[in-house]
Amino acid sequence: MKIALIAHDKKKQDIIHFAQAYEHILRKHELFATGTTGLRISQNTGLSVHRFQSGPLGGDQQIGALIADNNMDMVLFFRDPLTAQPHEPDVSALMRLSDVYNVPLATNMGTAELLVHSLERGDLQWREVVKDSNE
Ligand code: PGA
Repeated sequence: MKIALIAHDKKKQDIIHFAQAYEHILRKHELFATGTTGLRISQNTGLSVHRFQSGPLGGDQQIGALIADNNMDMVLFFRDPLTAQPHEPDVSALMRLSDVYNVPLATNMGTAELLVHSLERGDLQWREVVKDSNE
């Protein structure tokens, strides 16, 4: 499965801890991230992560483009709800596209944990069926 990891600045430490805790699961999948999030995760885990631009410089939109191509299976987005983001329109667009394409989207660590456990259980195999039927 293709998984996107994104964390706003005040949530970077949380996503690093998350990636460390679930490294054994995440390592079986193809990981993508916005620039700084991806850098921090690869520096602090053994995971290899394909990095896009930093979020404010277009990284969220690059991930959105993969979603629009039905080429992303899950988005784990550790949002900071207490700080205004200069790229809020991009953040909204990413969440909107996840809804358009029914891509599982977590916007906080609590939901991200549930999704990762589901992933490990194989609950997301339906994504393969959706992809096959669109080809
Ligand atoms: P970053 O971007 O990983 O490059 O910090 C995340 C964001 O703010 O959307």
